[in-house]
Amino acid sequence: MNGKIQIVRGMHDLIPTEVIEWNLIENIFKKVLINYCYDEIRFPIIEKKMLFKKSIGTVTDIFEKEIYSFKDKSKNEICLRPEGTASCVRASLNHGLIYKKKQRLWYIGPMFRYERPQKGRYRQFYQLGIEVFGYLEPEIDLEIILLNISWWKKLNIEKYLTLEINTIGSIEDREKYQKALIKFLSKKKSVLDQQSKNRLFKNPLRILDSKNKKIQEILISGPKLFDFLSKKSILRFNFLCKLLDSINIKYKINNNLVRGLDYYNDTVFEWKCESFNLSQNTICAGGRYDNLVEKIGGYSTPAIGCAVGMERILFLRSLILNKSNSSIIKIDVYIVFFDKNLYLECLKLSQKIRKKFGNIKTLLEISFVTKKNYLKKASKLNSRFCIVVSSIKKNEKNILVKDLKKNVNLKCCEQKLLMFLEREYYSQ
Ligand code: ATP
Ligand code: MG
Repeated sequence: MNGKIQIVRGMHDLIPTEVIEWNLIENIFKKVLINYCYDEIRFPIIEKKMLFKKSIGTVTDIFEKEIYSFKDKSKNEICLRPEGTASCVRASLNHGLIYKKKQRLWYIGPMFRYERPQKGRYRQFYQLGIEVFGYLEPEIDLEIILLNISWWKKLNIEKYLTLEINTIGSIEDREKYQKALIKFLSKKKSVLDQQSKNRLFKNPLRILDSKNKKIQEILISGPKLFDFLSKKSILRFNFLCKLLDSINIKYKINNNLVRGLDYYNDTVFEWKCESFNLSQNTICAGGRYDNLVEKIGGYSTPAIGCAVGMERILFLRSLILNKSNSSIIKIDVYIVFFDKNLYLECLKLSQKIRKKFGNIKTLLEISFVTKKNYLKKASKLNSRFCIVVSSIKKNEKNILVKDLKKNVNLKCCEQKLLMFLEREYYSQ
């Protein structure tokens, strides 16, 4: 066992029990998306590095430090996508999806960022993202928040999540504010931590996000972004808040919420989990990005989107449900035989059951079992029914069905067995 190769740092396996829960979560997401008329789009994991240079900006952590980029054999600068929005815009533009058209799109897939791995922070992680193109109205911001809430409700995590929103105005508003912030923080340089010092001239807005309490104390007396916003931006934000109030949606205004990427404007929001003391407690984040489509080469198109961290949802659900039975893999029908000559008979029976009942999980035992150990095996596999085929002759009693849940036995023929399974699985 000495030569066991370990997983690459920051990567993350999902074992089958986790995949079952993952699929359940993904299906819930998809059902709600259909309900809200969002269409799925798929795009590659690899993109030109230029796409992210143009979109997320060169002075962001993602572009500076975290991007997995390399030259391919033709010396093209390419990268593994660190997020989905820019790719989604690129794909939509390439296929003419957003030219004079409104679109509600969603996608799911792995993203890659060379970050410091921690619980809930991986170097390959999955995002489920939604992007809406063509609407400037604050009502679309509300629609996305409502869609998010439908997700949380169906996933039973609603009461653990808090919505934080903010408006960061236009790029011009932020430029004015940045100047004021740099001026203010330059005077406090001696008390800034290294990270904030690094960010001061490159991306000072990120300092607002700092987890360092001292920095947060300093910022209390500093200039506020809100005071630099245009009237239009404030009115828009107030209208959105009013909409949220009018349908009793709880939210917190967090003026320090700025988001890490360059392309956002006006509304930004995050869904946070304050319970369980999570080190990574933001499970979904998004905002408007009305300038991005133009930046990537399209016509000016209003847009908004958000992305959910799938691993974080999975982890949160495991904490909330705290039950191991969700992770038990069950099978429905376990077929065994004790005489090798019965193999083909049993194989045909298993195929018949699979064909007739698409949803029933049927397992044919192909390794040797004995009359002594087959039930132990059946219960280890968590099977509902154990079926023992005892003879090749299709008589009235060549099949023994053991209902391991109700603890009853039944001797019957193949036809009766099929009728019995039909009753059990479809009459409920
Ligand atoms: P964070 O502040 O947690 O780094 P972010 O602002 O970088 O998040 P976004 O780029 O907006 O996050 O991504 C949206 C969501 O994707 C996050 O809210 C989070 O749930 C998830 N996410 C982001 N980075 C990671 C990661 N490295 N590992 C796992 N999930 C992640
Ligand atoms: Mg991040």
